[in-house]
Amino acid sequence: MSSISRRRLLATGAGIAVAGAFGLPAILARPAHARVLIIGGGPGGVAAALAVKAKSHDADVLVVERDPTRLLRQNETDIITGRRDPADYHKLAAAGVEVSLDDIRSIDWQTRRAEALSGRSFAFDHVILAPGIAMRDEHIAGYDREAAERFPHGWTDRQGVAALAANIRAMANGGTVIIRIPPGRMRFPEGAYRRAGEIARYLEAEKPDAVVVILDHSQPGPREVAMLARLSARFGERIEYVSGELFGAMRSVETENRVLNGERMSLCGDVINFIPAQEAGRIARVSGLADDSGWCPVESETGASRLHQRAYLIGDSSAVAGNADLAAIDRRAQIIANAIA
Ligand SMILES: Cc1cc2nc3c(=O)[nH]c(=O)nc-3n(C[C@H](O)[C@H](O)[C@H](O)COP(=O)(O)OP(=O)(O)OC[C@H]3O[C@@H](n4cnc5c(N)ncnc54)[C@H](O)[C@@H]3O)c2cc1C
Repeated sequence: MSSISRRRLLATGAGIAVAGAFGLPAILARPAHARVLIIGGGPGGVAAALAVKAKSHDADVLVVERDPTRLLRQNETDIITGRRDPADYHKLAAAGVEVSLDDIRSIDWQTRRAEALSGRSFAFDHVILAPGIAMRDEHIAGYDREAAERFPHGWTDRQGVAALAANIRAMANGGTVIIRIPPGRMRFPEGAYRRAGEIARYLEAEKPDAVVVILDHSQPGPREVAMLARLSARFGERIEYVSGELFGAMRSVETENRVLNGERMSLCGDVINFIPAQEAGRIARVSGLADDSGWCPVESETGASRLHQRAYLIGDSSAVAGNADLAAIDRRAQIIANAIA
């Protein structure tokens, strides 16, 4: 277990707020060095912080992350990606990056301050947003909070993945697992097909009469089409594919009956992994960095926002080609660090 407790992180954050270059009233702060504020301590935020600090040693770099579990992961298997993450907090601290536990609610571009839920306010010269994704309301009848709990997506949270896994384990042999893939841009599209393969492998061993149905409202790219072909070759009838075209637009969800109704057909599942449509994380949208698509357009040569000159974006919230995985995030971090230096 990490020796850094939640209390310690909070204390660190409070220290920054009182004494650091980011938290002082603007008139007193007079920072000697550029202040780079990074919102989000996921892979995007951490990569950006390390790259900026490595390139601009003198810069004051602060990562604000709202989830206390996010930065404390140490030698623990990430149940979403199956990866082992190093302890990000320790990496950041060793590089001289400050970390604060808080939730940024708004950005004032005129005064260059970011307001947090705690009431603190962080001044910056440059801000890099890495808030990941949020689920977008598709206005589907019956898809409410209860439906979201009964049919967990497991696309942003560990609890959802754990609930989905528990539902599959509890399912009777002969049951049906539906994975609903949403329309539009989404985080890590190939992850849904990979998940279908993982579930099919489990069912093959433990519940041989059960099947996985992929209900696909996306428009799979060549990589996903190749994955589907491999799944079909490997699992045969254990995996069924229903295209969004065949099913039609999602009309309603019946939570009690575990039924999904489309324009042209309905599907009933014993376990439903309902992945909703997605958009950039809230802070990126409310601070004016997203366009009508809900995603944040950026200049691919610099990582700068196309909608605001002081902002940079990295990770899943940014709409830029070649941004789909963690290796790409590292490359984007270098590009932003060079642009800021
Ligand atoms: C099922 C699945 C499997 C995947 N497998 C792989 C894989 O094998 N390989 C791979 O490369 N990628 C994989 N990915 C994709 C990878 O997880 C994402 O691309 C990556 O997490 C994106 O990082 P990010 O920093 O943009 O966003 P996130 O990881 O979502 O991090 C965003 C962070 O910002 C914080 N935050 C948001 N708003 C605020 C705010 N206002 N104030 C403070 N903090 C805030 C959040 O708490 C969060 O910690 C997978 C994804 C899924 C869903």
